[in-house]
Amino acid sequence: MFIDSHCHFNFACFNTNRKLLMSQLIDSNISHIVIPGTDAKRWAEIIKLAENNHNIYFSLGIHPHFLRDFDEQDLTYLKELLLLTRQQTNSKCVALGEIGLDKLIETDLIQQEAIFLAQLALAQSLKLPVILHIVKTQSRVLALLKQSKFNCGGIYHAFSGSEEIANEFIKLGFKLGVGGVITYPNSTKTKQTISRLPLNSLVLETDAPDMPIYKQNTLNNSPLNLKIIFNELCKLRKEPIDVIERELYLNCQSIFSIIND
Ligand SMILES: [Zn+2]
Repeated sequence: MFIDSHCHFNFACFNTNRKLLMSQLIDSNISHIVIPGTDAKRWAEIIKLAENNHNIYFSLGIHPHFLRDFDEQDLTYLKELLLLTRQQTNSKCVALGEIGLDKLIETDLIQQEAIFLAQLALAQSLKLPVILHIVKTQSRVLALLKQSKFNCGGIYHAFSGSEEIANEFIKLGFKLGVGGVITYPNSTKTKQTISRLPLNSLVLETDAPDMPIYKQNTLNNSPLNLKIIFNELCKLRKEPIDVIERELYLNCQSIFSIIND
C-alpha cells in the first residue's frame, strides 16, 4: 500500500478525470492522497474533496508561488479554518502547508519570509507539522526553523540535495519527500543522498500535476505515477521491496496521523 504525500489533486486539470483516477488508485494500491493547500481561494475546494472521499487528506497553507493574491486577512482565515477542521473528530487536516521560500520567483524574499514565519508560528501554536516548499533556500529555511524553535516536524517536499542538508532537516523532525526527481538520470547527487539516508526518513510523493516523471509530459502526471517513483527508489535501496513499501507507508502515516481505514 502506498500514500501519495503530496498531490495537488484539487487543481482544475484533474476535473475531467478525477473520478476515473480515484477508481484507478485503488487498483494501484494507493490508499491515500494528501492534498497540500496553496492559497485561500482553494482551501474550501480541498476541504470538500476530503469530505467526499474517505482516502483524501489535506493540509492548508499559503504557498510562496501564490503570494501575488495574498491578503493579510488570509492568515486570520487560515487560523479559523485550521481550528475548525482540527476540532472535528478524525480530522482529515493533517498539516499546515505548503509553505516556504523560493528564490526563483519574483516575489520579494522579505515578504516570503514574513508569511512563512507567521505560518510557522501558527503551526507551532496548533501543534501541526508543516509541508515545506524549498527552492534554493535550504540554509535560510533551516535557520528560520531553528530561530522559531519549531518542533512539530513535517515533510521537506520534493527534496533534492546533499546528505548533510538532509540530515539537518531530519534532526529537526522532518521527513524527506521523494518524488519524480529521482527518475531523472542527471539527479546523481539526490539519488546518492536518498540511497544513504535512514529509510524511516523518507516518504513518497508525485507532486502531480507538477514535477513530471522523466520523459513524461506534465499532462500525464497523476498520483498513479507513485509506483514509478517507488520502483526507482527501490533501485537505490538495499532493503527488500516489501520492507521499503511498508516503511514508507508507516513514515507517512506517522507524520500525518493518517488513519488506516
Ligand atoms: Zn506542491
